[in-house]
Amino acid sequence: MGAFQKFVEVATDTKYVPVGRKCDICGNKLGFFYTGFWSVNAKQLMDCVLCNDCDKKLNLLLKHRNRWIKKAVRKEKPFSLYTPAQKHLIDLNGIKQCFEFAKAFGTEYLSSFGEEYGSIFYSQEAFHLDTPPLMVGIKRSKLLNNKMVVFGYVQMGCFKQGNKVLIDLGKRVVEASVLEAYVYDCEENTLTVNLRSNMGKQRLDQWQVGWLALDTEEDLPDIVTVVGSAAPG
Ligand SMILES: [Zn+2]
Repeated sequence: MGAFQKFVEVATDTKYVPVGRKCDICGNKLGFFYTGFWSVNAKQLMDCVLCNDCDKKLNLLLKHRNRWIKKAVRKEKPFSLYTPAQKHLIDLNGIKQCFEFAKAFGTEYLSSFGEEYGSIFYSQEAFHLDTPPLMVGIKRSKLLNNKMVVFGYVQMGCFKQGNKVLIDLGKRVVEASVLEAYVYDCEENTLTVNLRSNMGKQRLDQWQVGWLALDTEEDLPDIVTVVGSAAPG
């Protein structure tokens, strides 16, 4: 996104946010610059204001809404009708329903795997790692090369190194463990940067976007769900 476009978006979105307003979802204070141009930590939607954190979460829910469309009853999922670009068309009640539904759906889904599972990761991309020794060192190259990596976000719980996981392929489940985990928090923070540095924290927390390197070489489709234990060691 170009700087000017971003400027316009921010200015438009925050024009009507009054001073001292709180986020309508989490209740956090939105800071003090709400005259329009300088605020970058709030989004004005149809009838509510969201902090950047809640806005990011809503974007993730809408982006992955197809996973629920198939499984949910139509009247229970108003958000499934909207794409992330149309989120300004959902009212506060609809947004609250999105969060509630995602949580309820996740809890029910996890219970089908047994009590020991408490974390969900939704991938949108899966591919084999290519990690030459010069890039990551001989030891890590042996460990990581040709292993599967999934890119997506943590819907519930957290995932960390050594965590045993189940990869849900619909008709069957593949067992694996988390070799490494990397947070994606900005455009510059690519997978290659993370692989080279190996300095990032080896875990992904709820709502974080990032990669999980998994201990399997099996070809996975892009859209899979990874389920992790409730209390990773
Ligand atoms: Zn919030």
